[in-house]
Amino acid sequence: MEPTRSPMIHQPRTLNELSLLFQRIEKPLLWAGGTYLMSKSEYYPSPSNRQIIDLAEIEELKRINRTDRYIDIGSMVNASSLLSAGKLILPSILKSALGSIIGHITRRQITIGGSVCEPESRVAFSTALSVLDAQAEIRQWEEGRFTATWIPVNRLYDKDGSLLLRNTAFVLTKIRLGLEWGDFQRFVLIDNPIRKPDTAILVAFQATRNQTALTKVRFSASFPKKAFYISPELENQLSLLSFPVHPDRVNSISYEMVHDLTNRHESITEFQAERTRRVFESFLHELNIQTLS
Ligand SMILES: Cc1cc2nc3c(=O)[nH]c(=O)nc-3n(C[C@H](O)[C@H](O)[C@H](O)COP(=O)(O)OP(=O)(O)OC[C@H]3O[C@@H](n4cnc5c(N)ncnc54)[C@H](O)[C@@H]3O)c2cc1C
Repeated sequence: MEPTRSPMIHQPRTLNELSLLFQRIEKPLLWAGGTYLMSKSEYYPSPSNRQIIDLAEIEELKRINRTDRYIDIGSMVNASSLLSAGKLILPSILKSALGSIIGHITRRQITIGGSVCEPESRVAFSTALSVLDAQAEIRQWEEGRFTATWIPVNRLYDKDGSLLLRNTAFVLTKIRLGLEWGDFQRFVLIDNPIRKPDTAILVAFQATRNQTALTKVRFSASFPKKAFYISPELENQLSLLSFPVHPDRVNSISYEMVHDLTNRHESITEFQAERTRRVFESFLHELNIQTLS
C-alpha cells in the first residue's frame, strides 16, 4: 500500500499569483470551503500527488458587487455571508436556496464556487442559479495563459448533472446575476440531498406574470447524483398558456412534464418523478389562484 503523504498546499493572495501556480503545477486541486473534498475518502490526506491550491486568501474572490444592471458574487463568498450581505438585493429564489442549506457551520463553509464546480452532483445553488439565467466567469488555463469566458450556469453540466469542465484546468472567479427577475419565484427542496439522494428533489421555477400570460419562464429540477433537468420546450409550452388554466389541463401538463423528465432521465425513481410532478402542479395552481384574486 502507498503511504499517505501530506500534499503540498499553496495559498495565493491574488489572481495573478494563482495564474503563476497554474503555470507551474499540473492538475492542481482547487480548495474552496472543502466540504465536498473532505467528504471524499480519496482526496485528503491521500496518496495522490496532486498539489492543493487553497483559494481562501484571494480577496478578489470574496467580493459582492452590485451595479445598476447586475450583481457579481465572487466564487469564495460562502452561503452564510451571501445570505446576510445579500438580504436586500438577492432574488427570493436564491435566498430560499441558501436558506435550505442545513446547519450554520455548513453554511459558513460552503462557497458559491465550490457548489457550482462540485464535479458530480447538482444541489441548491446550481438549481436556483440556472433559472436565474446566472452566468459564470470561467478562467481556463490554455496554452500558457488564462482566458476568461462567461458561460450560463445551466450550460456547465451534462444531463446527469456532472460538471462538463471537470477534466480541464480552470477557476470559476464569479457569478453574475442580472437584476430583472420574475415576480413569481419558487424554490422547493424535499429531503436531505446529501443523506437521501435517492428520494431528494430540488425544484426551481420563475416567471413574470403578464395579465393572463407568463413570460420569461424558467424551470429546473435536480436529482442529486442522477439528473439535472432543464427543458426549453416545457418553458415555451408554459409561455403559451392563458391563465387561469383549467384544473384538468394543469393535471395533464404536469403528466406531460413527467413524461419528458423520465424519458430524458431514466435513472430517477418513480417516487422522485411523482414528487416533482406534484410540486410542479402546485406552482400552476398557485398561479391560477393569483390570476383569479
Ligand atoms: C456534510 C455536507 C452537507 C452538505 N449540505 C448541503 C446542503 O444542505 N445543501 C447543499 O446545497 N449542499 C450541501 N452540501 C454539498 C455542498 O454544496 C458541496 O459539497 C459543495 O461542493 C461545497 O462547496 P465547497 O466550497 O465546500 O467546495 P469544495 O469542497 O472546496 O470544492 C468542491 C469542488 O469544486 C472545486 N472548486 C471549488 N471552488 C472552485 C473554483 N472557484 N473554481 C473551480 N473549481 C472549484 C473543487 O476543486 C472541488 O472539486 C453538503 C456537503 C456536505 C459534505
